[in-house]
Amino acid sequence: MKFLKVNINTAAPRDPEASILLIYTGGTIGMVSDKEDQHLVPFDFSEVIHRVPEMRQFKVMLTVLSQDPPIDSSNVGVDHWIRLAQIIQVNYQEYDGFVILHGTDTMAYSASALSFLLENLEKPVIFTGAQVPIGRMRTDARRNLITALEIASAHRMGKTLVPEVSIFFNTVLLRGNRSTKVESRHFNAFHSGKYPQLAKAGIDIEYNPPAILPAPTRPLHVYQELESQVAIIKLFPGISPTLIKAILEAEGLKGVVLETFGAGNAPTYPWFLALLREAIDRGITILNVSQCEEGEVHQGQYETSMYLKEMGVVGGYDLSTEAAVTKLMFVLAQNLSKEKIAEVLQTDLRGEMTSR
Ligand code: ASP
Repeated sequence: MKFLKVNINTAAPRDPEASILLIYTGGTIGMVSDKEDQHLVPFDFSEVIHRVPEMRQFKVMLTVLSQDPPIDSSNVGVDHWIRLAQIIQVNYQEYDGFVILHGTDTMAYSASALSFLLENLEKPVIFTGAQVPIGRMRTDARRNLITALEIASAHRMGKTLVPEVSIFFNTVLLRGNRSTKVESRHFNAFHSGKYPQLAKAGIDIEYNPPAILPAPTRPLHVYQELESQVAIIKLFPGISPTLIKAILEAEGLKGVVLETFGAGNAPTYPWFLALLREAIDRGITILNVSQCEEGEVHQGQYETSMYLKEMGVVGGYDLSTEAAVTKLMFVLAQNLSKEKIAEVLQTDLRGEMTSR
């Protein structure tokens, strides 16, 4: 995976207020129509300044890294996340903030993964993208990009306003690991039902300081590994034993996010409980998250979750599925004991969960 430095002539300001690294990975935001006006193709990022001339007005030193070739975010994987974390690590001292242009489809997964890989983050890392390509008249790319750049460069008394991994989209700044893509047609593509917005962009950008993570007291630590042998099982009434068995007995499997009903409830069929118990005995970690958009898992509240608790399924409180699967990848990569894995999964690491 290559990233090329793109020279964009932003008419570098004499006394810049901030320096920002803009990392373009692909997605709809960077699309224009081809010559025959038939297909959308990635545009040459060095042209960004022609598409978004407002960028010249920023008092910001801007460097652009462009993934070559840019990708649709459906093709993003664990290697991309590690590479992005490494890019931030290498450039951390030189820049005040980072803006990552990314396809919307898997943006919430990428933002969650980056939040775990970047421990003690003191600078903003803001993901954004667009629903309508930058080359179209009614594009939302311009506004999303400009506002993300503005938030990434905002500071008060030398301190950034948002020292965490976030997603800016449409009018809202959300914590990355609390976000979910909820819209494929309209501009308000992201939602964070279990956590307040970090900022709202109207005439002014109104920040919500109590919701924003405090600046860390220790230096940045970048993790370099994620465990990809994980699965997500979304329960539904009538789910078959063959399916559950096939997943839980998959070779090399290390962990499963179990998307349960309501407050963490699952069937009590003996075959289902036996398969889960066997998997746990084989060392597989099972993390219980709820299919509900709001509320949290409370194992033991009903009989239908009591057995899960008893056999050692880990309750994921109000983790989103995106945060749960990337947290599982992150925690399982660290060679911890079974008890420690359960403990760390139930600990709030980057503001991703409200544990009690
Ligand atoms: N398929 C695109 C992607 O996620 C959609 C988008 O960017 O909005 O890369």
